[in-house]
Amino acid sequence: MTTGIAMGAIILFVGTGGTVLPQLVRAWQGLASQPDLIFTNALLLNVALVLLGWNRLKALKAELETRRISEKEARRLADVDPLTGCYNRRSIGPEIANLIDDAKAIDNDVAVILLDLDNFKQVNDLNGHIIGDTVLKKIAERIADTLPADALLARLGGDEFACAIQYKSGQRDRVEHTAALLIDRTSKPLHLDDLSVEVTISIGIVGEADVETYGNRIEDAQQLIHKADIAMYQAKKQGKNRMFWFEPSMEYELRFRNDLENGIRKGIREGEFLPFYEQQIDLDTGDLVGFEMLARWQSPELGTVGPDVFIPIAEDIGLISELSEKLIAQAFQDARLWHPDLSLSVNISPVQLRDPWFSQKLVRLLVEHNFPASRLDIEITESCLHENIGMARNMITSLRNQGVRVSLDDFGTGYSSLAQLRTLPFDRIKIDRSFISELRDEGASEKLVDAIISMGNGLNMPITAEGIENDEILGVLKRMGQLKGQGYHYGRPEPAEAVRTRLAEAGLLVAEEEVAAMQPSDMLAMSREMPRRFSH
Ligand code: C2E
Ligand code: CA
Ligand code: CA
Repeated sequence: MTTGIAMGAIILFVGTGGTVLPQLVRAWQGLASQPDLIFTNALLLNVALVLLGWNRLKALKAELETRRISEKEARRLADVDPLTGCYNRRSIGPEIANLIDDAKAIDNDVAVILLDLDNFKQVNDLNGHIIGDTVLKKIAERIADTLPADALLARLGGDEFACAIQYKSGQRDRVEHTAALLIDRTSKPLHLDDLSVEVTISIGIVGEADVETYGNRIEDAQQLIHKADIAMYQAKKQGKNRMFWFEPSMEYELRFRNDLENGIRKGIREGEFLPFYEQQIDLDTGDLVGFEMLARWQSPELGTVGPDVFIPIAEDIGLISELSEKLIAQAFQDARLWHPDLSLSVNISPVQLRDPWFSQKLVRLLVEHNFPASRLDIEITESCLHENIGMARNMITSLRNQGVRVSLDDFGTGYSSLAQLRTLPFDRIKIDRSFISELRDEGASEKLVDAIISMGNGLNMPITAEGIENDEILGVLKRMGQLKGQGYHYGRPEPAEAVRTRLAEAGLLVAEEEVAAMQPSDMLAMSREMPRRFSH
C-alpha cells in the first residue's frame, strides 16, 4: 500500500510537475506570467507526498529485516535443545537425512549411535536437578569432543542422546572405535565444585545400510533412531555400560516382551494368575506336611505360562507386589479348607523384600483372611541376601515376630557365607534342586548334600530337599538324615481343585461351614483333634 501511494505520488508529480515546472521557469525568466496558485500548491503537496512515501518505505524495509532476523532466531531455537545446545528430537531427523545425502555423494555410509546414561536418575535423586542439568551439559560436551567434526549430536530428551556419523562403507570397526571412546570418556569422573559424579552409558548402534528404507527421507532417519534405541535397550538388558549393534531379532524380542507386559497387566486385571500347589513331605514318615504355592499364568492367548517367564517381567514393570498379594490372598482362601496342620509356603521376590511395608501388608492379608501366621512359611531366595543383608535381616526378624516362619530357598546357588548364615535367623534351609537331581549319579554331589545337611544341623536349621524326582534319590536322602522334601516324585504342582480332591480322599479337608465360623485359635485346637491319615 505504501509502495502504491508512493508510486501514485510520483506519477502525479510527473504529471503536475511536467505542466507547472516549465511555466515556473519561464515566469522566473520573465517570459511568462506566474503559474496558477492551485497548480503550484498541488505541486508542493505532491513533493511532500513523495518524501513521506519514501520515508515510510525505508522504515518498512528496516522493520521487515528485523522480523526476518527474529524469525530465523526462533527457528534456530526450535531446532536446538536449550540445555546442551545440541539438536533436539524434532530437528535431528532432517539433519540425519541431509547427512545421508552428503554421505551418498562420496560413497560413505551413516551410522546412528544412541546413548543413554545408566544411572542418571540416581544422580538426580542424590544431588538435585541443578547438578543433574550440569552433568547432562558436561556429558554432552564430552560426546561432542569425541565425535568427528562433521558428526551430528542431538539430545532426544531426559538423559538420551543420538549421534550420527559418516564412515567408509564396510568399516564398521571405525564406528565401534568411536562408540568405545564414548563409553570410555563419559565414564571418567566429573568434578563439579567439591562434588565428584560418575556416570556410565549404554549404546545402541545401527548402520543405515543394515535396515530397509522406505523412501521418505525423514521417516527413514526416524527409523534409524528407533532401531538404535532397540539396540541400546539390549545393551541395558545385558548389564549396561556397553554397546550393541542393532539386529532384527532384537525387534521381535522387544515386540514379544511388549506383548508379554501388556498381557501381564491385563492378566492381573482379569484374574488369569492362579496359585498351584506342590506337596511337601516328611521323608521319614511319608506324611504330607504342607504345600508350596507356585504361581501359574493361564493366559487365553499363550496357554499356561511358568513363573520363570512372568515373575521377572512383573518385577521390572513394578507389578510384582500387586500380583503376589493377589496370589497370596487366593492361597489363604484355598488353604483355609486344608487340615490345620498343613503349612503353606509362598515365594517372595527380592523387590518385595525391599519394601519396608511388606511385613505389615502380609499381616493385613493374614487378618483379612483369618489365616494363622504359624501356618505360613515365607521362602526367600539366597540371591536376595547380597543386595542388602542388613535390610534382609530386619525383614526376616520382623516376619518372625509376627509368627511367620522364614526359609532360605535355593540354598547353594547364591554363595552365602557361613558367617552370613549364622547371623540370619532362618527357620529352615531348602537345598537347591540342582544338587538333589545329581544324587542319582554317585560321587561329589552326594558329599556336597551331606555337607549342607551337617551344616544345617550345626546351625540348628531343619532342611528341605527340593527336586526329588525318583525313588533312588529319595533313598539316598533318607539315609542322610531327617529331612523334608518335595519334587515330581510326589507329583507335579496342581491347581486348588486337584488339591481339594486329594485332601478330601485322605480326610484332610475341613468343611466350608466349619471354617467360616472358626477363629485361628480354633484351628490350632482342631489340628490336635483331627487325625492325619495321608501319607506316601
Ligand atoms: P522354586 O521356589 O525353586 O520352586 C520349585 C520349582 O521347581 C517349581 O518350578 C517346581 O515346579 C519345580 N520342581 C518341583 N519339583 C521338581 C522336580 O522334581 N524336578 C524339577 N526339574 N523341577 C521341579 P516353577 O513352578 O516353574 O517355579 C519356578 C520358580 O519361580 C520358583 O522356584 C520360584 O522361585 C518362582 N516362583 C514361583 N511362584 C512364585 C511367586 O508367586 N512369587 C515369586 N516371587 N516367585 C515365584
Ligand atoms: Ca521356593
Ligand atoms: Ca527352590
